Amino acid sequence: MRLKFTSRLGALLLALTLALPFGALAQGKKKNNPDEIGNRDVDGGVNFYSLEKEIALGKQLATEIERQAKIVDDPIISEYVNRVGQNLVRNSDVKVPVSIKVIDSDEVNAFALPGGFFFVNTGLILRADNEAELAGVMGHELAHIAARHGTRQATRGQIINLASLPLLFVGGWTGYAIRQGAGLAIPMTFLTFSRAFEEEADLLGIQYLYKAGYDPASYTDFFEKLQAMEKRKPGTLSKVFRSHPLTEDRIKNSQATIEKYLKEKPEYVLTTSEFEDVKDRLALVINKQRGEIEDPNRPTLRRAPGSDRIEMGDEKKEDDVDADERPTLKRRPN
Ligand code: ZN
Repeated sequence: MRLKFTSRLGALLLALTLALPFGALAQGKKKNNPDEIGNRDVDGGVNFYSLEKEIALGKQLATEIERQAKIVDDPIISEYVNRVGQNLVRNSDVKVPVSIKVIDSDEVNAFALPGGFFFVNTGLILRADNEAELAGVMGHELAHIAARHGTRQATRGQIINLASLPLLFVGGWTGYAIRQGAGLAIPMTFLTFSRAFEEEADLLGIQYLYKAGYDPASYTDFFEKLQAMEKRKPGTLSKVFRSHPLTEDRIKNSQATIEKYLKEKPEYVLTTSEFEDVKDRLALVINKQRGEIEDPNRPTLRRAPGSDRIEMGDEKKEDDVDADERPTLKRRPN
């Protein structure tokens, strides 16, 4: 069919239609280039939420999480995790202030709510072998914030009523879950993203990690390590990255991103002694924190006293097995 534009409006529409793909192409190229970080739009696409509305929504959800989950308030640990995160924020496309808190949960995960509310699980810190691995997962989450995936996804689904959404239960450590009777419910649309959004978060997250000075290979190292654990002992780590499923594709694409778009630097940060100190301290703080809530009136608990500790002991044994089978990681200069 032949279109005839008789009005100015029609001509304008045609011009826009032709211009849009070129604009998108330019943004696409910029998106692959770490030198463009902070100087490009990664939050494109239709979004029903203004940034202000998004922040208000995120704050509301974050308040709910903080009410129900156990936040680690040790100043040394929270300051350290916040510092690692804010350094990544400065090397990212994030345009909102980011608040970072540590949750006591064995799940190897971190999650970002819309509007810059970011939670890091203790399980992630304890499973990471170096600061770069921790920073890699944090970079991925910051990418979700920068690209506004939560509200873009909500927009796509044309969500009207938040209460009608399926809920994701963010499980904590068993002790807390028992104490509270249930896990934590957050509308899933804000935490589980489409494959395309996950890919985009990998692409951007690796760039943030790289720009902050870390070894970008740590990003895939950590994925591979977690995947190997899962393969060796299926089910034991089924909750790992539940909101960000690990797939072969994701690892391959991430490796391709590194090779294709990131110019090799003479040296990278792999870890810091502070990371090791914080990890040791965290293990102590968690044990103490959990010990304190173990005693008083636990009428609903059927387990024998101290069984929680046994559970944790078991996990240590798993770690030892993992350590034996773990492939030797290529060490890079600090
Ligand atoms: Zn993700």
